[in-house]
Amino acid sequence: MSYAPLPDPVRPAFEVAVARNRGDDAFLQAVHEVFASLGPVLDAEPELRELALLERIVEPERQLVFRVPWVDDRGRVHVQRGFRVEFNGALGPYKGGLRFHPSVDLDVVKALAFEQTFKNALTGLALGGAKGGSDFDPKGRSDAEVMRFCQSFMTELHRHLGEHTDVPAGDIGVGQRELGYLFGQYRRLTNRFEAGVLTGKGLGWGGSPARKEATGYGLAYFADHVAHARGAPLEGATCVMSGSGNVALYAIAKLQQLGARVIACSDSSGALHDPEGLDLDVLLELKERRRERLGAYVVARPDARFHEGASVWALDLACDAAFPCATQNDVDAAAAHRLVAAGATLVAEGANMPCTPEAIAVLREANVAFAPGKAANAGGVAVSGLEMRQNAQRETWPFDRVDQRLQELMHGVFDRCRTTAEELGRPEDYLDGANVAGFRRVAETMHELGVV
Ligand code: NDP
Repeated sequence: MSYAPLPDPVRPAFEVAVARNRGDDAFLQAVHEVFASLGPVLDAEPELRELALLERIVEPERQLVFRVPWVDDRGRVHVQRGFRVEFNGALGPYKGGLRFHPSVDLDVVKALAFEQTFKNALTGLALGGAKGGSDFDPKGRSDAEVMRFCQSFMTELHRHLGEHTDVPAGDIGVGQRELGYLFGQYRRLTNRFEAGVLTGKGLGWGGSPARKEATGYGLAYFADHVAHARGAPLEGATCVMSGSGNVALYAIAKLQQLGARVIACSDSSGALHDPEGLDLDVLLELKERRRERLGAYVVARPDARFHEGASVWALDLACDAAFPCATQNDVDAAAAHRLVAAGATLVAEGANMPCTPEAIAVLREANVAFAPGKAANAGGVAVSGLEMRQNAQRETWPFDRVDQRLQELMHGVFDRCRTTAEELGRPEDYLDGANVAGFRRVAETMHELGVV
């Protein structure tokens, strides 16, 4: 893997990270992206180098890798690997989701935990950064198999968790069913109803209204701020989305409420195009309630077309805005060129790191407004923070109150990115704005806490 040259003040710390994390391409990609924004900060504050702040900020505080054995419905024993990377606890308890997907390894988890640290800082809440998961694939498994896996996973992980220590949530492959099994086992092992130990819980056992909607809604709120700042609001805009999971579905819902028309989305089996605009009720029924493949959509909407095995970016659909909401490195340079040719003037990341560095360079070069995931998808963790607050007070707030706070928090994230980008002399550079604003908050706190 080769990396574009970095500014002088950050290069030595990146070289240390490369030497320490050989072959960890996802992690080094995430570090490179943040470090590329930090030259001016290090120039202005040379003492950060003496404090070895960059060297410390790229080293996870703790990395857990553990065996997760479980038994399938036919009595066969399987062994999975579990991970939790507690990256940085300077701002608060470690916080970040759990992902169950065959692609999960330590490199991916470390990259996501690093990103999460800055994302959480951008929310302004008291949350440290972490991520976890397993290479277990819940797809095609029965509820009983998923339950046995979750119980085994939590049997090891529980000793590292706590409402003041480390608070996981869901992510790809971990929805309310999995969180229920995980929380049930945690409660059984600890004999404590410690609601604040997990977020994204069911409404009947400590969950927050609007948590399910939060990441997608927050993405739409953030994108709307970016669009307004450009003088081209989302109302009336044509949008294309990748993914059709939790983030994508609720982004579609809010974009539609804002007056946009979302014409395409995807899953790992292919891409769906509905020229009239996607029917959200059909999508929710298929993907959220019945867990079916996206292709079944055309049964209810015969005018739509499903392209088996295709990427949504390869459909070359004319659009004003694009929202990658599936997984990392989903938009490469070729896809970015196609989006520019299709007329997109805004790309907002709902997923974590869905655009490759080359794709980001193409978008910036073409003057496309780019909203990085660590800012644009912060709504999920922001409402997780509100869920923890409700749990601490043993309260449940109404949906509208949570949604109102979400809008305020996303406005705050946007303002931090925008103000910092303006200070840097590039008001529309939300990537540098997010990286520098997130870094400053974590670095200042680490400085005040001493060399720990
Ligand atoms: P879900 O599991 O609910 O949905 C993921 C979607 O992406 C599914 O449609 C899935 O298709 C698709 N997908 C996953 N991997 C691939 C792939 N390799 N190729 C094509 N499609 C793929 O996850 P979420 O919606 O929760 O998460 C999506 C992204 O958003 C992730 O990057 C996650 O880290 C990020 N995120 C999530 C937050 C949350 O609150 N949930 C918060 C912040 C970020 P299929 O159904 O076929 O697998």
